[in-house]
Amino acid sequence: MAAISIKDVSKVYNGGVTAVSAVSIDIADGEFIVLVGPSGCGKSTLLRMVAGLETISEGEVTIGARVVNEIDPADRDIAMVFQNYALYPHMTVYENLAYGLKNRRTPKTEIDARVAEAARMLELQPYLERKPRALSGGQRQRVAMGRAIVRKPSAFLFDEPLSNLDAKLRVSMRGEIKRLQRRVGTTSIYVTHDQLEAMTLADRLVVLSGGRIEQIGRPLDVYHRP
Ligand code: ADP
Ligand code: ADP
Repeated sequence: MAAISIKDVSKVYNGGVTAVSAVSIDIADGEFIVLVGPSGCGKSTLLRMVAGLETISEGEVTIGARVVNEIDPADRDIAMVFQNYALYPHMTVYENLAYGLKNRRTPKTEIDARVAEAARMLELQPYLERKPRALSGGQRQRVAMGRAIVRKPSAFLFDEPLSNLDAKLRVSMRGEIKRLQRRVGTTSIYVTHDQLEAMTLADRLVVLSGGRIEQIGRPLDVYHRP
């Protein structure tokens, strides 16, 4: 059974804009899927529907055996990473990492162990007591990823997570996400308009155009078609 199954999903916004049209993708357990395509092609809308943040006009998204819109938001076993980090400015890095687990009433020893593990993977140990304003853009983005990792979700959803970083940082963070993916191996959907990012990270690429799937396949097959 697919880890995430997107079945004939469409989205028509209130104003009548069709953002996503009859998209179907079966995502295998541990697979890293990248949604790529120009601005406005529906990537973010599709990701948000999988996250349960946007209503689905037609079709169905299932995660494991469960239909997304029937899952209570608090029980959703998925973690999202955004481009604007969405860190709590008044909390330290440690507190930002621990926050979601505290809300789920995870025991303190377990929280500390998971925060320590994520901090080690992301090389954030020296910064645990700092507030986000005292971090660089790359460090903030690593905290945002750390917050997703500590939850040990069954899926990661990334919405252009590197687009606010400068070119050099984007390259190094791209490598970091790749390494994390090898270590953690969590099923992921990653949205970007950056072809290199897509090529580097994807097990399978989905090229969207006007809300429809234009191509789907392994990166080399998609980008080197005659
Ligand atoms: P992408 O992420 O590929 O840039 P989006 O999913 O953001 O594309 O947008 C797809 C289409 O849906 C665009 O035409 C966009 O203008 C439209 N759209 C996005 N969000 C809304 C909204 N909340 N209300 C109406 N139209 C929207
Ligand atoms: P407050 O000052 O708001 O009470 P703290 O900064 O003391 O919050 O942190 C809340 C909890 O998180 C405390 O139990 C503290 O021991 C723990 N904590 C804070 N920073 C770290 C850290 N770097 N490593 C492990 N635990 C931490």
